Amino acid sequence: QTKQNDKGGYSFYNLDYDKNLQRQLALNTALNSVIENGELSLVFQPVFDNQKAILGAEALLRWQHPEYGMVSPDEFIPICEDNGQILDIGLWVLDTACEVLKSWQDLGFTHLSMSVNISNKQFLGTNLVEDIRRLLNKYALSGESLVLEITERVIAEDLNLVRKNLELLKEMGITAAVDDFGVAYSSLSYLQQVDVDILKIDRSFVANIDSDEDALNLCKAILSMAKSLKLEVTAEGIENEAHFLTLTEVEVDKYQGFHLSKPISAQAFYRLLNNN
Ligand code: C2E
Ligand code: MG
Ligand code: MG
Ligand code: MG
Repeated sequence: QTKQNDKGGYSFYNLDYDKNLQRQLALNTALNSVIENGELSLVFQPVFDNQKAILGAEALLRWQHPEYGMVSPDEFIPICEDNGQILDIGLWVLDTACEVLKSWQDLGFTHLSMSVNISNKQFLGTNLVEDIRRLLNKYALSGESLVLEITERVIAEDLNLVRKNLELLKEMGITAAVDDFGVAYSSLSYLQQVDVDILKIDRSFVANIDSDEDALNLCKAILSMAKSLKLEVTAEGIENEAHFLTLTEVEVDKYQGFHLSKPISAQAFYRLLNNN
C-alpha cells in the first residue's frame, strides 16, 4: 500500500511537470501565428500625478487564444524571449502603442506619454533604435512622448550596449525608465553609468507601506536616492487610498495601480480622458 502511495505521489509530481512542459510546448507553437491570427491586443494602464490627473499610459500586452483563453504575459513573454519571437511581438507592441498614442494626440491629448515595456532581448537586439526611429517617423510622433521601460537585469547583462542604446534613444528625446526597481538585488552602481530618467518602484515595496514601517522606509530611501540622482519615481501597485496618500506625502512623482485604474482598452482610455 505504502509503496503504491509513494509511487503515486512520485508520479503525480511527474504529471504536473509533464503538464507544465506540455503547456509550454503548446504555447510555444501557438505563439508562431499569434500576430497573423490577431490574437494579440494592448491594454493601457493610466499613469497619474499626485492630483490624480492622467499623465499617460503604460501599454500592456494581452494574448487571447481560442483554446487556452487569456494567457498572462508573465507566462508567455519568457517563452517568446527563449524562442526569439519576442523580436516580432515586441515590434508589434511598439507599432500598435505608437498608433494609439498618435490617435490620442490627434484627438487633442497632446501632453500624454506612452510607456512601452521592452524585453531584454529586444533592447539588446540590433534593430531597436532604427525600428523606433522609423515608427516615430511613420506616426509623426516626437520621441518626447515615448517612455521605454527596461529592467535592471538587462543593464546587468550588457552595460556597454545598454549605455550606447540609451545614448541613441536620448538623442531622439526618448525617456527611459527602470521597471520593477529594487527586485533584482543588483548593484546600484549602474545608476551612475546609464542615462535613465525614471525608477519604477516595484509593487512589492508598495504593498505594505500602510502597515509596515520598514516598507515605507525602503520607499523613502529609494526616493531620496532618486532625488539626489535627479531621477523621477513612479510607484506601481497602488491598491488603496492609503497607499496613494502615503506616497503623495513622501512626494512620489507618478502613480499607477488598480486603485487608480486597471489597465483598460484604448477606447475606454479615451472615454476616461474625456471625463476628466
Ligand atoms: P510590469 O511592466 O511591471 O507591469 C505591471 C503589471 O502589474 C501589469 O501586469 C499590471 O496589470 C499589474 N498591475 C498594475 N497595477 C496593479 C495593482 O495595483 N496591483 C497588482 N497586483 N497588479 C497591478 P501584466 O499586464 O500582467 O504584465 C505583467 C508583466 O508582463 C509586466 O510587468 C511586464 O514585465 C510584462 N509585459 C506586459 N506587457 C509587455 C510587453 O508588451 N512587452 C514586454 N516585453 N513585457 C510585457
Ligand atoms: Mg512596466
Ligand atoms: Mg513593473
Ligand atoms: Mg513586473
